[in-house]
Amino acid sequence: MPLRNIFAIGLTLVMWSCTKSIETAAPTPLPPTSPSLKMISRTDWGWVPLTDSIPVHEIKYITIHHGGEDFPADKDPIQYLRGLQSWSQSDKGWIDNPYHYMIDLKGNIYEARPIKYPGDTNTSYDVRGHALICVMGNYENQILSTTQFEQLARLTATLADEYGVALNLIKTHRNYVETLCPGKDLYRYFEDGSFLERVAALRQ
Ligand SMILES: [Zn+2]
Repeated sequence: MPLRNIFAIGLTLVMWSCTKSIETAAPTPLPPTSPSLKMISRTDWGWVPLTDSIPVHEIKYITIHHGGEDFPADKDPIQYLRGLQSWSQSDKGWIDNPYHYMIDLKGNIYEARPIKYPGDTNTSYDVRGHALICVMGNYENQILSTTQFEQLARLTATLADEYGVALNLIKTHRNYVETLCPGKDLYRYFEDGSFLERVAALRQ
């Protein structure tokens, strides 16, 4: 038997025995959420400092959205963020991007509107008290990747810890008003409970 085959068998046995020992040992604590959560700061993506302000709020809820427009893989998320800030201010008259955090197709997390200010919406729910997270793309048509799911869960868990938000107050846009947001491929993880399960595990 060639030497590399013997090596491969040996390695398989080592991996098998490692797996066995992990299964029978006490559950390994999950790493804390914050150190692994890398965010792209407003300064890093070219956010324009605000010239306007509105009354501040206290975070009590976390609410998940999608961008609602198809986001091809070659579209530049930074251009999108800059465009959204400029459109929000000039066309909508909002102080800033409507969301506090945005996640791109690769799972990168960007800071958007400062969280001390309530967000904005084109629909009719009261956004005061909500931390708004938006995943770029249209999840009626697109598929949420595992990395996006995980980054969304980590960001949600970090915010929930920071502001003391209970799991039952972590919802999606469509739980408040009639809308397709956050799209069926993202919403299905709320329907089957797996999203909040992951958030709960990350908070332990
Ligand atoms: Zn929404």
